[in-house]
Amino acid sequence: MTDTLLETSSASSSSSPEATDVTVPLGRKIVTAIPGPKSVALHERRLKVVPPGVASALPVYIEKAHDAIVIDVDGNQFIDLGAGIGVTTIGHTQEPVIEAAKAQLDRFLHTLFTITPYESYVRVAELLAEHTPGDFAKRSMLVNSGAEAVENGIKIARKATGRRAIAAFEHAYHGRTNLTMAMNYKAAPYATGFGPFAGDVYHAPSSYPYRDGLSGPEAAARAINYLEKHIGATDLAAVIIEPIQGEGGFQVPADGFLPALQEWCTANGVVMIADEIQSGIGRTGSYFASEHFGWVPDMVLSAKGIAGGLPLAAVTGRAEIMDTAQPGGLGGTFGGNPVATEAAIAVFELIEKNELLKSAARIESILKPGLLALKDKYDIIGDVRGKGAMIAIELVEAGTGDSTKVPNAAAVSAIAAYAAQKGVLVLTAGTWGNVLRFLPSLAISDELLLDALSVLDDALAAL
Ligand SMILES: *Cc1c(COP(=O)(O)O)cnc(C)c1O
Repeated sequence: MTDTLLETSSASSSSSPEATDVTVPLGRKIVTAIPGPKSVALHERRLKVVPPGVASALPVYIEKAHDAIVIDVDGNQFIDLGAGIGVTTIGHTQEPVIEAAKAQLDRFLHTLFTITPYESYVRVAELLAEHTPGDFAKRSMLVNSGAEAVENGIKIARKATGRRAIAAFEHAYHGRTNLTMAMNYKAAPYATGFGPFAGDVYHAPSSYPYRDGLSGPEAAARAINYLEKHIGATDLAAVIIEPIQGEGGFQVPADGFLPALQEWCTANGVVMIADEIQSGIGRTGSYFASEHFGWVPDMVLSAKGIAGGLPLAAVTGRAEIMDTAQPGGLGGTFGGNPVATEAAIAVFELIEKNELLKSAARIESILKPGLLALKDKYDIIGDVRGKGAMIAIELVEAGTGDSTKVPNAAAVSAIAAYAAQKGVLVLTAGTWGNVLRFLPSLAISDELLLDALSVLDDALAAL
């Protein structure tokens, strides 16, 4: 790839010319107002048939995408720092994944694994057993979405323990189904008006070093006190946490927090579940973010990045926990669709072959110092945090970064809007909406990252 940012060239690594005609756009390019006229027209059509509850952060309608660039129907090219919320972790339209899916399309599309099974489902379970933390017998079941993985993880933990209560954490996000709405920390917009909600769900205090100043053991002691006093260990089926919180704002727990909780869970017969739906599959520079913290969970949930963009999710857990569910108790019509499982196998192979875990470290080595330099320059950046290709900045009101740390959601919205106008897609997050999160694909080049950082600099300067 050349370092020319504003040109296109044909795909470089194409093994068979007919395999893909995706040209590789090398950089951002804005040729119309954002959104452009064709996007505006599509949006008008959409508003007549799609309810506003399904909102779009930036209503530019996408025509194609490759690596870390998306191109809209008006011909605008954006540097994608969101990857569909960490789904296209390996990059958009990676050829080995497309080929694997296409080959399966020619063989069969569906049989239903719980009627007549097929090998690729088994292979994905083997890969998950190999790459999730912990050297013990594991089982995996495959489903279609992150929320469905959470639902099944909780269901199995309850069966395995015979207990009722579930503890999630402050700032947690687990999905939009009835149970997972109850598990999220933030009500608006995910739960407002959609109740009644599932019961027996609690929120323990988390580890949020920037705001609580607690060490890992201190934060764990606080959480354990809550679990013991407010719920009681003997009624607690599962403790579920994102090792790095996603939607809540990329809080990285203090060292020691997660292993101390796991130790308490193990001692008390509680299933501890890692929701790695956003942080897993190479995103943070290890296969699963739990590894950074020396945490070996009883159960790991995967979804977003696992199949390169096709819908697939997984519950992977200790065999003795997973095996408690009765035959027929687990499943679902589309779970482990064969096109998605073939794509997932290709994703795992690509991570190995292209050493993509190193790519996550490379991205961190550019983004972190770049953002820390912006933090020195702009005092509304209160915190820079995250790991690998999962990095965020938390914005506060000017002059409050060392004291009250007043959340600054307005600045986050303004920066995201400015960046979009300049051809950079960034996502927002945070319980107070005051976090900008960066989830680029591992295929992003150094040049694109540096270019995106310069746009952020301009956006901060323009505030
Ligand atoms: C996205 C997400 C979910 C929900 O996944 P869906 O596929 O949207 O149902 C659950 N947990 C975490 C941490 C997520 O990021």
